[in-house]
Amino acid sequence: MNYLKFHDTYKEKTLFGRYITLDDIEPLLLQYNAEVIGRSVLEKPIYKYQIGTGKIKILMWSQMHGNESTTTKALFDLINFLHSTTSESQAFLKMFSFCMLPMLNPDGAKMYTRENANGVDLNRDAQHLSQPESQILRNVFNEFQPNYCYNLHDQRTIYGVADTGKTATISFLAPAYNENRDVNVVRLKAMSMIVAMNSTLQQFISNQVGRFDDSFNINCVGDTFQSLNVPTILFEAGHFAEDYDREKTRKYIFIALLSSFNYFCDNDIVSNENSEYLKIPQNNVVFYDIVYKNVKINYDGVEKIINFAVQYEEVLINKKILFEAKIAQIDNLENYFGHVVFDAKGEKYSDDHDNIPKIESKADFYIGKQNKFVNGLLSK
Ligand SMILES: [Zn+2]
Repeated sequence: MNYLKFHDTYKEKTLFGRYITLDDIEPLLLQYNAEVIGRSVLEKPIYKYQIGTGKIKILMWSQMHGNESTTTKALFDLINFLHSTTSESQAFLKMFSFCMLPMLNPDGAKMYTRENANGVDLNRDAQHLSQPESQILRNVFNEFQPNYCYNLHDQRTIYGVADTGKTATISFLAPAYNENRDVNVVRLKAMSMIVAMNSTLQQFISNQVGRFDDSFNINCVGDTFQSLNVPTILFEAGHFAEDYDREKTRKYIFIALLSSFNYFCDNDIVSNENSEYLKIPQNNVVFYDIVYKNVKINYDGVEKIINFAVQYEEVLINKKILFEAKIAQIDNLENYFGHVVFDAKGEKYSDDHDNIPKIESKADFYIGKQNKFVNGLLSK
C-alpha cells in the first residue's frame, strides 16, 4: 500500500496546525451528513460519523483532550480516503464498520485545554461518567458494540524513545485491564495490532515509536473498555523534528490507522505477540525543546559554566497557538536531550534583568556579544 501517496492525495487541506475547533470541522461533518449524538457542557454538538458495512466494528474517538488535535486531522484524512474510489478503501469498507467521534470535547478544543468546560479530565471519568461527554462516549460504546476501540491522543514534546535520544513521534499502549497488568486474549489482540502498526511505522520513522507505561487506572477510558473485553489501543501523536504544527505526525497517524486495517487483511488476529509488543522501547521523559550547553554565568562574583533548558508553553492568543519559550531547568541535564541544542562554547550569558537564567522566566537573552536569543531562538 502506498501510504505516502494516499496521504498526499487525501489529506484534508482545510485543517492545519494545532488549534482545531468545532468551527473548523463542522463544515466537513455536515458535508458528510454526520449525526449529532449529544451536547457538551457548553451545549456544543458532538458528532458521530459512521461508514462501512463490514463485520469488524472499530470505534475511534479523538480530541477527548481539547488541546490534542493531531489525530482529529488524521481522522478527516482517513474519511477522505474512505470516500475515494481506490480498491484499498473499497476493501476496507467491505471489511469494517467505522464509527468515529472526531471531537469528543469541543469546549476544551475551543479553549485549548485538556479538560472539558467543567475542568474535568474526561480520560479520568470512565467510571463516574460525571460529564455529558463521558456519557456520550459510553452510550456509543454500548450501542455500537465495537470489536476494537482506538483512543486517539497527543503527547507532549518531552517524550523520547527509551534513552536513545530519539523523539517519540508516535506512542502506543495496550492498556491494562487489572492491577496485575495480566495479558488476556483481549489485551493480546490490542498488543498484536500495535506490533503490526509499529512494524509499518518503522519504515517511515525508524526508532521513533514508543510504548507507554501500563500502570492500571480504571478511571481511564482505555483501561475501562479493555476490562469490558473490547481490545483498546491508545494512540499518542508526538513530536517530529521541527514539526510543532504536527503536520508530519498527522501523516504518521494516518499511516498507523491504515496499517492497522491492513493487518486484518493479511494476518490471523490472535498470535502470540506479547514478546514483540514488549520489545517496543518504553517512553521516557527525556526531552526539552531547547538545551543550551557550556554557558558562562557570573554568580555572586564567581564565573561558572552551566547548562540550561527551555520548554515551550502553548498559549492561545487570537485564535492562534503561540509557543512561548520559558526557562524550565538549570543544570542536572545529564540524562536529557534537546530537540534543538545550542553550544555556547563558554560564552557569557546576559539578559535585561540579573544576567542569570531563572526558572519560569521568558527565554529572551544574549549569549556572548553577538548572539541575541528571542523566545529561545537565535535571532538573525
Ligand atoms: Zn490525551
